[in-house]
Amino acid sequence: MPNLSMQAVIIAVGDELTDGATVDTNSGYLSARLVECGIATRRHVTVGDDAAAIAEAIGGAAGQARLVIVTGGLGPTADDLTRQGLAAAMGAALVEDPRQAERIAAFFAARGREMKPSNRAQALLPAGAQAIDNDCGTAPGIAARLGEAEVFVLPGPPQEMREMFETKVLPRLPAAGAIAKRIVHTFGVGESDVGEAIADLMGRGRNPTVGTTVSAGVISVRITAAGPTKQAAEAAADETAAEVRRRLGELVFAGDDQTMPQVVGEALQAAGETLAAAESCTGGMLGEMITEVPGASEYFLGGVVAYANQAKTELVGVPADLIAAHGAVSEPVAEALAEGARRRFGADWGLGVTGIAGPAGGSAEKPVGLVYIAVAGRGGAAVHRHVFPGDREVIRRRAALAALNHLRLALVAAGEPGAEG
Ligand code: ATP
Repeated sequence: MPNLSMQAVIIAVGDELTDGATVDTNSGYLSARLVECGIATRRHVTVGDDAAAIAEAIGGAAGQARLVIVTGGLGPTADDLTRQGLAAAMGAALVEDPRQAERIAAFFAARGREMKPSNRAQALLPAGAQAIDNDCGTAPGIAARLGEAEVFVLPGPPQEMREMFETKVLPRLPAAGAIAKRIVHTFGVGESDVGEAIADLMGRGRNPTVGTTVSAGVISVRITAAGPTKQAAEAAADETAAEVRRRLGELVFAGDDQTMPQVVGEALQAAGETLAAAESCTGGMLGEMITEVPGASEYFLGGVVAYANQAKTELVGVPADLIAAHGAVSEPVAEALAEGARRRFGADWGLGVTGIAGPAGGSAEKPVGLVYIAVAGRGGAAVHRHVFPGDREVIRRRAALAALNHLRLALVAAGEPGAEG
C-alpha cells in the first residue's frame, strides 16, 4: 500500500468472526473508506472475545500505526470485552461516564423498557478516554489515545459501525493526502509473464504500488498512487498506467471498469462493422457475453449454437465430409464455422469456436481444453489453437473471452479505430 505517514490497523473483535460463523465485512469497509482519504491500512487483525487478546491486539497495533480502529464487543453481555481490553492496553481503570449513563437510561425510558445493570455497564470507559455518541443503539463508541496512536472503538453491527464511522470518526481524521487508482486489463498470457514485464514497478515500498489479480484468464494490473493532492495522485497513477500499457502492448485490452465485450463492441461500432458467431463448446456463452453490452444490436447480427455435427452442417454450412475427415474439434471446422456464420448472417466478421470442454471426451491427440477459434473477415480467416487449463466452466469462459480477444486483435491489425492495443 502507499507509503503514507498516516497508516491504520483495523481490529475486528468477536468469537463469531474467529469461529467462522460471521464473515468480517467491517474491516473491508473501513479499509476501503480510509484509502479514499489517503490512509493506508497496514493490517487487519481478528480476535475472539477475550480481554487479554484484545488488549494485546490493541497494544500491538498502537505500536505499528497512528490510527487504530476496533469494531465489535461493545455490547451489554458478559462476552463483550472490548472496553476491558482497551482499558488493559491503556493501563487505565474503567470508570462510568455520567453523560453516557444518562443517555442509556433515556434510551430505555423512551422505549418503555427496563434498563438492566448490564446496560449501565455500557457507560463504562477507560479513564482518559472519551465516549462517541451512538445514534443507532445504546453502546457508545470510544475514542482514546494510546502512545502515538488514536484509537477508535466502534460497535460491531455493520449498520451502527458505518453510521458512527461516517458521522463521528471520519470528520476527526487528519487530511492525509489523496489516493488514485487505475486498472490495466490484459489477456493472452499468464500472470508470471505479466509480472516479469513489470517486475520493477511491483517492488514493495514503491509509490504507486502495482499488483496483479487474475480472473478467468484476465490478468489485471492494479495501480494505487498516493499524493499530497488528488491531482498529484491522479497524475502519478496515470503515468504508471501508461508505462504498464507501453510494456504490455497488445496484451492490454481495457482499463478500469471496461470489459472485453465492451471494448470489442466499441471497436466494431467505431468501424461501422458487424459480427456473427457460430459456437460449439461455448454453447451460447460467446453470444451472451457480446449481448451483455447495451446497444450490442448495432453490431451483433446473431449467433448459432451449432452443437451437434448435423447442426454445424445444416445451420452454418460446415461440409459433412470436412467434419468426417478432421473431426468436429479441428482447425478446418473452426474456420468453416466462422466463415459460415459470416456468410449466413451477412456480417463483416464471423467467429467460430469448437473445442473439448471436458471433463470427458479428451484424448492424447485432442486433450480436454483444446479449443480452436477462428476469426473470419474480408481478408480471409485465421485459426488459433489453444489448450486451456481449468474445469468445464473455466475452459468455456476462457474460450469465449479468447474468441473476443482474437477479434479485437484482428480489428487492431485491420487498423480499425477504437480497438485498444
Ligand atoms: P451489540 O451492542 O449489538 O452487541 P457489539 O459492539 O457488542 O454490539 P458484537 O456483539 O461484537 O457488537 O457484534 C454484533 C453483531 O454484529 C454480530 O453478531 C455480527 O452479526 C455483527 N458483526 C460484528 N462484527 C462484525 C464484523 N467485523 N463484520 C461483520 N459483522 C459483524
